[in-house]
Amino acid sequence: MTVVLFTLGGTIAMAGSVGGGVVARLAGADLIAAVPGLADLGHPLDVRDAPPVPSANLTYRQILGLVDAASAAVNGGAVGVVATQGTDTLEETAYLADLVWPHPEPLVFTGAMRNPTLAGADGPANLLAAARVATAPAARGLGALVAFHDEVHAARWVRKTHSTSTAAFVSPNAGPLGHVVEGEVRVLTRPQRPPPVTGVDPDRLDAARVALHTVTLDEDADQLAGLFPGRDGLVVAGFGVGHVPSALAPVLGELAERVPVVLTSRTGAGSVLRRTYGAVGSEADLRRRGLVNGGLLDPYKAKVLLRLLLGAGADRAEIAAAFARHG
Ligand code: ASP
Repeated sequence: MTVVLFTLGGTIAMAGSVGGGVVARLAGADLIAAVPGLADLGHPLDVRDAPPVPSANLTYRQILGLVDAASAAVNGGAVGVVATQGTDTLEETAYLADLVWPHPEPLVFTGAMRNPTLAGADGPANLLAAARVATAPAARGLGALVAFHDEVHAARWVRKTHSTSTAAFVSPNAGPLGHVVEGEVRVLTRPQRPPPVTGVDPDRLDAARVALHTVTLDEDADQLAGLFPGRDGLVVAGFGVGHVPSALAPVLGELAERVPVVLTSRTGAGSVLRRTYGAVGSEADLRRRGLVNGGLLDPYKAKVLLRLLLGAGADRAEIAAAFARHG
């Protein structure tokens, strides 16, 4: 049984130089050739290369295309799938894939923080770990995963929390689901996965415009009001447990009458609350004004979920119910 490897570019594939900086150019065969131990995996790798790009250039449509191709691979008998890409957007792409991935076979994302021209490049070790996770019976049923630095993270929880460290990927709310130890995949936690989001129309998804606004100290309402019109939804990254300056509360309430507005926290860990604080601009006030509670979802993941739901044609009630399930 094969492991299918999809390569999308990113630092893991960045060698050679253009204008003094590295650019994505290595293909899957080059990546595999740099990994000692891959031949002992017990499963051949079947490589499918996409044009290598920095992950800042990836699109929702491309990731859904990857999911379709990965689905075809597992329907054709692949034991699991690995996707390599840039790390910058990996926390979003992996979550997008996870939301629609319907198979028990693992879909494992990885990349590298150090490019192949640097001492201690981490791409080969990450690729080997990802391939091991893709073939591990213990990783079945966990959805899309991120294998990095010999840790296994749920796409649902993982964050990129450092700009250069090889240990950049952490799951602040849940910790890693498991570890790769002496080549063995040890899964410690098996979170429940909500059923996949279905009915996503790629054109409707492309057209769905979701804004993300991070609230900051002493902010007036004009900037926020300026984000509209032309948006189909908004994610607000509020202070702490989901608070905004009181001047913003009526503006958010008015927006929430027109489009779904999801409340999240800008802190990087923990949940927004529902009913603890009562001031104007508090989480309870914003809830009364019609904002949807993002729960434990960070702003970036909330934006992925909201846009996907809009792409699936979900109405307000369905969006609120989905955030209650996923948040
Ligand atoms: N800028 C790169 C990218 O996301 C960073 C990386 O791959 O680590 O494509």
